[in-house]
Amino acid sequence: MGDVARDSKSLHDECGVFAVSGHEAAAELTFLGLYALQHRGQESAGIVAIDDDGQTRIHKGMGLVAEAIKEAHIRELRGRTAVGHARYSTAGESELRNAQPALVNYREGTLALAHNGNLTNAAELRAKLVGEGAIFQSTMDSEVIVHLIARSQRPDPDEQVLEALGQIEGAFSLAILVNDVVYAARDPRGFRPLVLGKKGGAIVVASETCAFDLIEADYIRDIEPGEILKIRDGKIEQLPRLTPEAPAACIFELVYFARPDSRIWGCTVDTARRAFGRQLAREHPADADAVFSVPDSSNSAALGFSEESGIPLELALIRNHYIGRTFIQPVQTDRDFKVRVKYNPVRGVIEGKRVVIVDDSLVRGTTSRGLVSMIRDSGAREIHFRISSPPILHPCFYGIDMPTKEELLASRLTVDEIRQHLGVDSIGYLSLAGMIGAVSEHGPFCDACFTGNYPAPLSDLEKGLLVTADCR
Ligand code: AMP
Repeated sequence: MGDVARDSKSLHDECGVFAVSGHEAAAELTFLGLYALQHRGQESAGIVAIDDDGQTRIHKGMGLVAEAIKEAHIRELRGRTAVGHARYSTAGESELRNAQPALVNYREGTLALAHNGNLTNAAELRAKLVGEGAIFQSTMDSEVIVHLIARSQRPDPDEQVLEALGQIEGAFSLAILVNDVVYAARDPRGFRPLVLGKKGGAIVVASETCAFDLIEADYIRDIEPGEILKIRDGKIEQLPRLTPEAPAACIFELVYFARPDSRIWGCTVDTARRAFGRQLAREHPADADAVFSVPDSSNSAALGFSEESGIPLELALIRNHYIGRTFIQPVQTDRDFKVRVKYNPVRGVIEGKRVVIVDDSLVRGTTSRGLVSMIRDSGAREIHFRISSPPILHPCFYGIDMPTKEELLASRLTVDEIRQHLGVDSIGYLSLAGMIGAVSEHGPFCDACFTGNYPAPLSDLEKGLLVTADCR
């Protein structure tokens, strides 16, 4: 059990999922879709494709999508049906064996799976499966789903998928390939996004609509919480839904994670972030000369703050976009070095000014602290820090990578202590009511990271199967 617990501590998977059914260039479209979903996972990427003769091919690699998958691989991945995945996980488990899609052969043929989200009973299921003789190839919680499908005694793949999905808890947006059929499914609470689109006669599925824009596919609709679609050669059939639960769309997707040009939860992410910024300006006004964002994730919120407050928006921080994963920190540097590599202040717009910095969230506070000292060094007269979400007090168990409760700045310090810790003149967090109110028509939401109200049971945690104990 010890190993199971250690393995399954796992994998807070932030990921991008993409699938195509019924297009000659399925693998190429999948590559492009993953490329647009790169922000959801930078650690590894993979594509599985099946051709008309039923031959399955896979390519997976570490790194960014364009590093992991080359043109020659795409050419080899023949067929009209493909599923792809871009993955991010916590450090230490960054290995090719954990890259997705997971691919196996079972008695029905090919089975491949791409998963975004985090299961909350994976350790328990895994222990049971291991006890029954299952051999796991990876430490991913997603592999549990593969085993549940393959070991199901039901007579056909539709039933096997249904039975497997009925046993898992937590967050899952899935693209599952069984031979030339793509099953696209979301958990009954709909924590993570998954959207349906079409390109000519082909059907496409993606984590976010920005992937459709790049391949010039048309958005049809969101796949609904608990919905399971069976897609074959560009045709969609609805399977029976999973047992309904109260919907709980992740609000952190709107705060930070999704791309601003995507449309999720029925709204454009940029619109939601601007609304957060405007509400933040109402709740925590500042007497200042300039407002600026920490690019890129808080750009829209800073715009909203500027619109509402009338304080001009400046581009005061320039971000270096070319920092690879292999960047090595020289030994002889101070602790803010990482921040300085990523951001550089524009001295001319900061010097002598009273400034408002808008950031989308504070997690450990290390980035913000480094930024604040840089901005002071650039001659800011006053620094007013504004955060376009409430204090993050609780870890996420549904697929956003958050540190343990102890490492979350706001769970250790009061708001005024955070102000002192960052070294700013004033600080203001968007209130929970203000955040929810700004997007209320698009909920109901999961706000567990702010409130500790976890909508889906945390079975593994409660049974002591997760290492991150006492997280609530
Ligand atoms: P820090 O407070 O230094 O830990 O970093 C906070 C910044 O990281 C925020 O401004 C966000 O833009 C970004 N951020 C928030 N949540 C995450 C996450 N789950 N993974 C990576 N970056 C995040």
